Amino acid sequence: MNYEQFFADKIADLKAEGRYRVFADLQRQAGKFPRAMFHNGEEIKEITVWCSNDYMGMGQNPNAIKAMQDIAGGYGVGAGGTRNISGTMHEHILLEDELADLHGTEAALLFQSGWIANLTALSTIGSMVPGCVIISDSKNHNSMIEGIRHSRAEKHIFRHNDLADLEAILKTIDPAKPKLIAFESVYSMDGDISPIGKICDLADTYNAMTFLDEVHAVGMYGQRGGGVAERDGVMDRITVIQGTLAKAFGVVGGYIAGSAAMCDFVRSYGSGFIFSTSMPPAVAAAARANVRHLKDHNELRVRHQERAATLRQRFREAGLPVMDADSHIVPLMVGDPVLCKQASDELMAKHDIYVQPINYPTVERGKERLRFTPTPFHDDALMDALVDAVKEVWTRLGLKAAA
Ligand SMILES: *Cc1c(COP(=O)(O)O)cnc(C)c1O
Repeated sequence: MNYEQFFADKIADLKAEGRYRVFADLQRQAGKFPRAMFHNGEEIKEITVWCSNDYMGMGQNPNAIKAMQDIAGGYGVGAGGTRNISGTMHEHILLEDELADLHGTEAALLFQSGWIANLTALSTIGSMVPGCVIISDSKNHNSMIEGIRHSRAEKHIFRHNDLADLEAILKTIDPAKPKLIAFESVYSMDGDISPIGKICDLADTYNAMTFLDEVHAVGMYGQRGGGVAERDGVMDRITVIQGTLAKAFGVVGGYIAGSAAMCDFVRSYGSGFIFSTSMPPAVAAAARANVRHLKDHNELRVRHQERAATLRQRFREAGLPVMDADSHIVPLMVGDPVLCKQASDELMAKHDIYVQPINYPTVERGKERLRFTPTPFHDDALMDALVDAVKEVWTRLGLKAAA
């Protein structure tokens, strides 16, 4: 086999389909978020980022920058080992305590990313609980799908946020078998929110565990940023709450929170936890500064929701095909991979606006879209410029208007 030819052919396939990924080469500017410098070969220009998952602008929080500098200066840059072999730093302990407090749980456990937290927790629970059956929402994130696959547990998929379908599946499973329902709170591509309390009711009826990915909600929902489960008053009903330190908390890393026994079990049996070097203590310190900051600043969440609602309303008034949702995520449907990329390219080239095209496999084919994530730092002037630019590009490319 000609291996090089194989690799090149696979890339050519993606290009022919219009979904070859090109990364924007950016330099974020602390203090000027959501402005950033964009490198395009020789050209460098300032642009506005409209698709960051740094949802609250915490990546530039002065407290977090100082915490990272202080801890790196004081203790050095790396942890020096896995948690078990000399790599448990005091900063990890403090951060786990902070996260357990955030979710009102007995314990929390850190991972290098949210992706690894999902992979490790789901694969460890699913493979070790004897006969465990996992019932998974059809729109769950790749990291949950991989974790479930890796567990080799019996798996059923319920229609997205469909309680009747979930219950119909639960009814078919032997009542004696252990079960786990895996789902998210905010689904990040459509921006819709799951009925957590009602899923917990079903879990109670059928004696199932619950695994909730709150990656797109922690820091952003609930009085202290504990997520949609906090907002809905159901945090104590979830077996495993999973979150990230990389999105609203603005740094990097992932975690689970729940009972002391559950966290200790994953700590003791999960390969993705055991065999990987722990996060640098400076990273943990910066993340903790942001978790604390967002616990104390509910007004940022109020402003965040207002910004998202305002942008959704502005798009609607402009006749643009904004998708209905009640979260902080504002998607505009394009429905074609080539046009979606073209719209994104033109916004960047002509209007200094960066919004990434979202194509298959992140969303289904035919559901390609631009996904806007207004933060508390996207003011009215930035929004005016955005709406004018999007209208101009929509008209020129002949994209579909609102139905
Ligand atoms: C981004 C994401 C993750 C992974 O989190 P990282 O910390 O970025 O690895 C997990 N679940 C969902 C739903 C996500 O969108």
